[in-house]
Amino acid sequence: MERKMFYLDHASTTPLSPEVYKKMLECYAKCQGNNTSVYAIGRQANYELEMARAKVAKAIGAEPSEIYFTSGGTEANNWAIKGIARANRARGNHIITSQIEHPSVLESCKELEKEGFKVTYVPVDGNGVVDYASIIKAIGPNTILISIMTANHEVGSLQPIRAIAELAKQNEVYFHTDAISAVGNVNLSVKDLGVDALSISAHKINGPKGVGALYIKAGTNIDKFMSGGRQENNLRAGTANVPVCAGFGVAIENATTDLEDKVREVRVLRKYFQKKISEEIHNIALNGHPTQRLPGNCSITFEGAEAEAVVMLLDKEGICAAMGSTSDYQTNTPSHILQAMGKDSETIRSTVRFTLGSEISREEIDDIVETIRKVVKKVRSISAIRIYKNKVEL
Ligand SMILES: *Cc1c(COP(=O)(O)O)cnc(C)c1O
Repeated sequence: MERKMFYLDHASTTPLSPEVYKKMLECYAKCQGNNTSVYAIGRQANYELEMARAKVAKAIGAEPSEIYFTSGGTEANNWAIKGIARANRARGNHIITSQIEHPSVLESCKELEKEGFKVTYVPVDGNGVVDYASIIKAIGPNTILISIMTANHEVGSLQPIRAIAELAKQNEVYFHTDAISAVGNVNLSVKDLGVDALSISAHKINGPKGVGALYIKAGTNIDKFMSGGRQENNLRAGTANVPVCAGFGVAIENATTDLEDKVREVRVLRKYFQKKISEEIHNIALNGHPTQRLPGNCSITFEGAEAEAVVMLLDKEGICAAMGSTSDYQTNTPSHILQAMGKDSETIRSTVRFTLGSEISREEIDDIVETIRKVVKKVRSISAIRIYKNKVEL
């Protein structure tokens, strides 16, 4: 029998829900026409695509005509930032974002800098919350776009995006938010929040990988992302992947139905996990805002224990957790987010991110925490980070 796996890395990706899988299989079978064709199998595909678009729109309180399918969250962020910046170049060349954005936002800004745009990367406080005053200070006559994420994927902190959106509006500046880690966790009504563009990704909400959407408020001045055919209202060319979009539609509908109940359930589990860890393991610290945070996110620094070793040993025990953020692991660079929060390199090297989903039980959490306790103890006893040794009994 296969050993049980405990998946505590929902911020990196989530398991495909059986309902989404079923919808995709159904569409692979019956939607093989090109959705732009006039005959029946084309129209059938188009029906499914538009149903999915309506579901995405409903989930964020938008009009279906304001939803554009993309190849994922990365593309949505690239498009929003580059598309709005380039289209509004005549009005100004200044962009404001934060130091804790996802690489897809930061790297898009870096590319724009090569084209002559000026970018202000505003700092965050020790809890990983963007400094609102720095945004006010940064806005100038040349500012055309502000992009601040709704919630941080690594430490879970929620950002004051409603206030920032209001500020942007007062200054006639476009406001984009990367809401990818917030969908399914935070009530996201675009009208309520007052945003002009908002990015979503399906695989963070139990949908398939390789699909996402950009909400673009009607009337927003934005360049097209792909040149070619007239798909997606002539802004994003390419034949749509209908089964995958249909799966995305089901995923976002499920993620946003009874949101409050689901959030409460995950929050209770995470708080229990957190409480257990603080009871069982000494010299730990929780990163991110203590209350204004994503329900399932628990970023913990285990003083004196190298995160890489902890994560590897946990994997041997069937527990999936992340060190810093996944992209940082691949490039082996320390987390830019923890750095922006003022953490020193030893703290960053001993930080593990656990992101819980609702499928875990309290009994399982008890077992998981016991395993984490043993692993941390072992790593601390052999760790290259020596500072811990003299302070506390192992
Ligand atoms: C996952 C993630 C992305 C990237 O989305 P993909 O669909 O994986 O390209 C961007 N921003 C945040 C906050 C994320 O968590």
